[in-house]
Amino acid sequence: MTLGSDVSRLTTTAASAAAKGLSIVVPVYNEAAGLAMLHERLTGLADTLMTRYGLATEVVYIDDGSADNTLAIARTLKADGLDVQVVSLSRNFGKEAALMAGLDHARRGAVLFMDGDGQHPPDMIEKLVSHWIDDGYDVVYTAKAHRDNESATRRFAVRSFYALINWGARQKIPEDAGDFRLLSPRAATALRQLPERNRFFKGLSNWIGFRQIRVDYEPAPRAHGVTTFSPGRLIGLSIEGLTSFSVAPLRFASLLGILLALSAFIFGLTILWEVWTTGKQVPGYPSLMIGLMTIGGVQLIMIGIVGEYIGKILSELKARPIYFVAEHTEKRADGEAAASERTAAE
Ligand code: UDP
Ligand code: MG
Repeated sequence: MTLGSDVSRLTTTAASAAAKGLSIVVPVYNEAAGLAMLHERLTGLADTLMTRYGLATEVVYIDDGSADNTLAIARTLKADGLDVQVVSLSRNFGKEAALMAGLDHARRGAVLFMDGDGQHPPDMIEKLVSHWIDDGYDVVYTAKAHRDNESATRRFAVRSFYALINWGARQKIPEDAGDFRLLSPRAATALRQLPERNRFFKGLSNWIGFRQIRVDYEPAPRAHGVTTFSPGRLIGLSIEGLTSFSVAPLRFASLLGILLALSAFIFGLTILWEVWTTGKQVPGYPSLMIGLMTIGGVQLIMIGIVGEYIGKILSELKARPIYFVAEHTEKRADGEAAASERTAAE
């Protein structure tokens, strides 16, 4: 038995890499307004990829429990030069779960993830593919070129988040990196093998290693609708990401404990010294109260942090499926195999 995993047979030499093709995974949640348009652009792109690299393409739409008619529209999309899979989840499980469902259903070799709201420009895909096939990179990730249009508070929050998650980490998660990325066949295989249920996709696809390259891009404005990630939800996601990926908050807790204990010790010494040299009683009530409140507050925060991790352990232990598929349709590019439908939960 080996405790590691060998994915080297899935090499990325240009010829063998392209042979298995590319799966494009698109999580969609209430994206009815822009879906047909996006599909049209992807169809055009599939054509280009086929002529330039001989690369067969499939697109996997993951309907993450949309409340509008996203699913109905997705069902009607044509497999015109590319295979189309539509996987509909039984409810809204969140983007991370939708990405995982896409990774599980992707049938081709390499996997590319992109948003369904038009913010990730399909024109860039060719460049990502070129880094993979021509230059031999395994993980081609995109990052926002700048955050000029975001508020100072948000930029500060993002910076602090990455400072904390990367604290003491051997493999640093690049700041600003997004979910728009391409994984070579061996990188995708590696990512599938990670067993955790609480997934922080950006972190994991960085953690697996291999040859990685960053590509800067200018995110387009949302084609329609509004973002589903409110500040509150983003804070929740950050806590999720931190606690499922790193033990930095626990280390931070210990460090704070040591600092507090140390300052209390020094404070105690100064009081002793004062009594000793002046013989006066030091008035104790205010300092006592402050000490009590500090210790009390810090302890509650630390218990909260530990609690987050216990929650993670509990959910890993329950080992529930990350998502349920309610409906799965697929259309082959050649049009021969009619849509096969499965309605049972997978
Ligand atoms: N999304 C999803 N499930 C959700 C929320 C979002 O599948 O619960 C999808 C959404 O349809 C879009 C992508 O994830 O394709 C990014 O979402 P959004 O544009 O709201 O986030 P932002 O671009 O603001 O990060
Ligand atoms: Mg978006």
